[in-house]
Amino acid sequence: MSESQQQRLERLQRLKLQAQQLIANQDPAQEPVPLSPEIARLLEDLRIYQVELELQNEELRRAQQEAETARARYQCLFEQMPLPALVLDAAGQVEHCNAGATDLLGPRAAYTHGDNRLSDRLARADRGRLHSALRNLTVEQPQVLERLQLADRQVESQARTMDGHLIQLDRDFHIDRKALLLLVDREAEIARERAQRFFSSILDGSDNPICATGTGGEFLVANRAMLRFLGRSTEEVLGQQRERFVPLRDAALHSEADLRVLETGEPVMLEERISGSPEGELELVTHKFPLRNAEGRIYGVGGISTDVTELKHQQGQARLSESVFLMASEAIIVTDPETRIVRVNPAFTAQSGFSEESVLGHLASFLKSGWQDEVAYQAMWEALERDGRWAGELRNRAADGRDYAVWSSISAIYDDRGRVARYMSIQTDLSALQAAQSQVQRLALFDSLTGLPNRALFEDRIRHLLAHAERHGEAFAVIFTDLDHFKEINDTLGHAVGDELLRQAAARLRSSVRGEDTVARMGGDEFVVLLPTADHAAALLVAEKMLQTLSQALVLDAVPEYLPTASAGIAVYPADGSDIEQLLRHADIAMYRAKQAGRNRVVVFDAQMAAENARIFAIQTDLASALLHGEFRVHFQPKFNLSTGRMVGAEALVRWQRPGLGLVSPADFIPVAEKSGLVVEIDRWVLNESLRQVGLWQRQGIWHAGWRVAVNQSARDLRDPSMLREVEAALQLNGVVAGALELEITESALLEHTDEVVRRLAELSALGVTLAIDDFGTNYSSLSYLSKLPVQVIKIDMSFVRNMLLNPSDRVLVETIITMAHNLGHQLVAEGVEDPAQRDQLLALGCEVGQGGLFGWAVNAEEFARQHFQQAAA
Ligand code: C2E
Ligand code: MG
Ligand code: MG
Repeated sequence: MSESQQQRLERLQRLKLQAQQLIANQDPAQEPVPLSPEIARLLEDLRIYQVELELQNEELRRAQQEAETARARYQCLFEQMPLPALVLDAAGQVEHCNAGATDLLGPRAAYTHGDNRLSDRLARADRGRLHSALRNLTVEQPQVLERLQLADRQVESQARTMDGHLIQLDRDFHIDRKALLLLVDREAEIARERAQRFFSSILDGSDNPICATGTGGEFLVANRAMLRFLGRSTEEVLGQQRERFVPLRDAALHSEADLRVLETGEPVMLEERISGSPEGELELVTHKFPLRNAEGRIYGVGGISTDVTELKHQQGQARLSESVFLMASEAIIVTDPETRIVRVNPAFTAQSGFSEESVLGHLASFLKSGWQDEVAYQAMWEALERDGRWAGELRNRAADGRDYAVWSSISAIYDDRGRVARYMSIQTDLSALQAAQSQVQRLALFDSLTGLPNRALFEDRIRHLLAHAERHGEAFAVIFTDLDHFKEINDTLGHAVGDELLRQAAARLRSSVRGEDTVARMGGDEFVVLLPTADHAAALLVAEKMLQTLSQALVLDAVPEYLPTASAGIAVYPADGSDIEQLLRHADIAMYRAKQAGRNRVVVFDAQMAAENARIFAIQTDLASALLHGEFRVHFQPKFNLSTGRMVGAEALVRWQRPGLGLVSPADFIPVAEKSGLVVEIDRWVLNESLRQVGLWQRQGIWHAGWRVAVNQSARDLRDPSMLREVEAALQLNGVVAGALELEITESALLEHTDEVVRRLAELSALGVTLAIDDFGTNYSSLSYLSKLPVQVIKIDMSFVRNMLLNPSDRVLVETIITMAHNLGHQLVAEGVEDPAQRDQLLALGCEVGQGGLFGWAVNAEEFARQHFQQAAA
């Protein structure tokens, strides 16, 4: 209301009062006093004022009504407004609160009555802030609209989170020292913001490029990885089409996929290969899916890309490893650190016969055969722990129970922390290899006929033995053994029988020694036995036992009870030799002695034998030069007819005029020459020389026409294809008829009567040469087999002649030989006749011819002529 209006109203009131007094002073019975003009004017004014006043009252009422309406509207507005609101006085007491506020804070009684204040319901820290806000609002800066944010507080009693704005709305509130507090419940908003932050940090925290595009292909969202991938900032990307940043071809691919998602509403997987990125070629897989709003309408496409370059690479590697694992020809076994089998490959199944299922979960030792050395296993584990790897031979057990050897390479596989995660064993089956190897080894090291070690293996063993004996100062023995008469058996009964004899002899020799001893076949019928740590006495015992075991009767094809024998020689390290060659040579020499001493015996080597051998060696080397230098001579020994007492011929016997040594007997060098093969040339020379001499004597007329000159021939001569021609040539050259020549062949040489030898004898016989068997009886030849040979003369060995007077059995033997020989049509010559009693006895037994000291010793041609031709001539 204005000031003037008030004054006016007061004036009108005064006027009204004056008028009323005037009327009251008038007598009602009296005619109304005519009104003075002044009063009339006053009344008139009063009426006007009254009208004005009424008008003004009306206006005031209307204004009041308007104010009331506004207040009610405000009250309604306050009550109904969606924001919780409070009216506080300066002390913070709540005067009003609307429904929203009670919803938020609870029933108003709790903070509107008595001393209850809103601040009691606030967090302690915020109480102060509220008060100072109220103070500022009402006292210090009353005109300033102040905004206070009380963020994120706890209203203690309700434990609710809320956010408040304290706002001065109206001056009136200020005047009245009131404040309107609007409470905004930002809980949902904060939750949304949080969710937003949460999802953004997830998005940005992801290494996978993630984006969302709208239906028009524009970027709605792109996470940090995507921005990095595009090389752009958020601002540059959002709202823009992909085509602006991505090569067109790739963009088209994405747009196409997006379109599919938009059309079908189904997720799509997009694989792409991106070249030209800073990391080189990349392989990405993008999972695209529809983005739907609350109504389910699709408003865009989400995409999460994964860089699968490494994964693909690893997959490729894994596929490669897997196929290597599956296709490998070696068995592969993978175990956990406790050696429990976790995988095996097909090659393992093929190798062992165990299926994968049957071994999974088993300890690897399940495959172990009982043959494996525990020490070897221990060494394996030590190596695995120390180096993480081991390789070596193992023996496995197969499903069928057989055990087999494998070459196993085991490696530990470690995890990121360096702990063993797996063991992998790659196993190569050695069975085939070993079979082949052992076959080769057998062939190389063992004699195929007897199964005994051969010379190579023997030499290897003796080498080891020697080294060992040297180190430890020990002795060991070598026994050289040679079967007696093996050659004869082989030649007469055939090779199959000979082989059988060798097999049986080998088995017997083997059985008569201990496991650690070596019995080797050196070739032919020669065996060597190695006795570790044996001295002479021990070796002798073993050798004798060996010969005894050997000499049990055995069935040999046609021979039901053959008694095999052998001769053996012993040499002992270090007494008889310090190296292998020497030991073997000395054992051989001793064995040779045993043969010479009559076979079936053992001879221990001694130094004298070595000397003898040295002598033989010297002979051997000198023989060749002896031929060249004409050091041989021929001596002649006469043969006499025992009944007539007349000379019937002579035997030519070779002598060696050895420089410095005088005349050497053929007994000393012929055996040596036989060994070296030089005997053929010596015999050829003797034949020529003898025939030359006889031819000369013939021409001198002192060689009787009926006489024969006997020349000795060795077995080797008979095997020489040129022999017949040589004989013919020698006869022809010296003008001697074949009938004047007799060839003496030792019985032992004839044992070897191969077809070739028999044919040669027949040819010589046909030529007219007389053939004699020398030293008959010393070998075990039967007369019946000799009868098959074209031989005319048999020379009884001088050992029988010598003993026949002393030993009745020798006499019987001589008698038998003579009788049988006669029955077979042979002529007989007795050797070594030294005294007349022998001659008489032989004569009595029917022997035709005698040779020996009694009739004349072997002498040179000159002496022979002097001694015998006068006599003959006489
Ligand atoms: P042999 O053919 O049986 O010769 C007989 C040997 O007995 C000769 O020895 C002879 O001197 C010896 N002798 C003869 N009468 C008596 C006797 O009454 N008492 C004794 N104790 N000995 C007698 P020699 O000449 O030493 O010949 C030994 C062997 O050498 C021969 O035995 C013969 O097998 C071989 N031989 C000799 N010359 C040759 C030859 O030119 N070629 C070949 N291959 N062998 C030969
Ligand atoms: Mg002779
Ligand atoms: Mg003889």
